[in-house]
Amino acid sequence: MATDRPSAITGATLIDGLGGPPLADAVIVMEGGRFTRVGPRAATPVPEGAAVVAADGAYAIPGLVDMHVHIGPPEQQHLSMFTAAGVTTVLDLGGRLPDLAAARAALEAGQVAGPRLHYAGPLLEEGTPFDGFAHMSRGFAAGEVEAVVDELADAGVDAIKLYITVRPETARRAVARAHARGLRVFMHQQATTGGAAAEAGVDCLEHLMVFAGLAPEEHRLPDPGALTPFEFGGWMWRWLPDVDPEGEAVRRLYARLLAAGTALDPTLVLYAARPAAMGEDGGDMALDDPECTPLLSLLPPPVARTLQERWAERRQAAAGASERAQARTRRAWEHLLALTGGFHRAGGTIVAGTDCPNVAIVSGVSLHRELELLVRAGLTPMDALRAATRRPAELLGSAGEWGSIAPGHAADLVLLGADPLADIRHTRRIRAIYAAGQPVTPLAALAGP
Ligand SMILES: [Zn+2]
Repeated sequence: MATDRPSAITGATLIDGLGGPPLADAVIVMEGGRFTRVGPRAATPVPEGAAVVAADGAYAIPGLVDMHVHIGPPEQQHLSMFTAAGVTTVLDLGGRLPDLAAARAALEAGQVAGPRLHYAGPLLEEGTPFDGFAHMSRGFAAGEVEAVVDELADAGVDAIKLYITVRPETARRAVARAHARGLRVFMHQQATTGGAAAEAGVDCLEHLMVFAGLAPEEHRLPDPGALTPFEFGGWMWRWLPDVDPEGEAVRRLYARLLAAGTALDPTLVLYAARPAAMGEDGGDMALDDPECTPLLSLLPPPVARTLQERWAERRQAAAGASERAQARTRRAWEHLLALTGGFHRAGGTIVAGTDCPNVAIVSGVSLHRELELLVRAGLTPMDALRAATRRPAELLGSAGEWGSIAPGHAADLVLLGADPLADIRHTRRIRAIYAAGQPVTPLAALAGP
């Protein structure tokens, strides 16, 4: 759908996603949906007849990537909100295969507006899937794991999502088959704890369940896979305040993850909802709080309702909490940030994901919050930007395709009115968005400090 006429953005400061220093007064040429020339103005001629966008004073970053979304069934989909928030690529980590395949076909045909969609298909469960997500899960017996991976690979998935009941040996076999089929493996851990998932070869660990192995003796679970994901999350908050985020056990865990080259997608925005519900600063949730957000009216009613209900539950639980319980929640949150930052400082790879539309998480918009929280955890703004651009592309084997502003890459780009390296919250000051070279109207409700 790209027009034949090239367009050129001139004068912006370029942050290309590759990690090098910003380039002032750059020229970025887009043609046929791709970047064709990128460089300093003096060395980068604007093609004859190009549409020129003067962007002096602006900052150009690659289109952003959310590595953990659930687009949902057709009646809940609102794909255009991602691109309108500057998120031009998403990875769906759990949904019904026919819905996902249909959404991708419609996106690729230009019938609906939205991001580039990668997906894993159903949550894979060893045995009986968790009831609450049964509609988007696929249960299997351990002996069938290779056949299930093959079936999904044949159906065109981009990745495999292992869920809470998968045990280490089954994870190892799933990974071996998935890698042989060219698929990356993502895991939400319960029955496989801590570094065992990394040693099974899993490519990316979702949320912060990897730290469950740090539970003190008296909190250990006899059968972690038997808890619902909600119960498991609640269980972690009970003992996280007592963990030493710089202790020996943490360092040993980092070493196991680094040795295996496993990435972490912490989805901090999901954890921030808990302190934010009790009025603590979990990253200024005013925009995401379904009771305050101006975005609610933009969401399909079933999504808006779910966000409101789950937020109300959080609020209610927080309202009854004693002062001591609130202090412990605050400390658990600080420890989650410290553990995430520590993994990054140790040399681990972090990618940005939100788990939208989980509690208080708004598609597209909350990715900007995640970037802010990653910086609060200790990443530099440049590292946070890379966690939402180049790192995801590398993880998905698409590093030559998208995720950077470089010749040959898909022309996904966000123009900002202020420097994101000075303050990461400036990623919300969007002036213009291009998805595969096509302009997208930015969300008016998305504003930054
Ligand atoms: Zn999820």
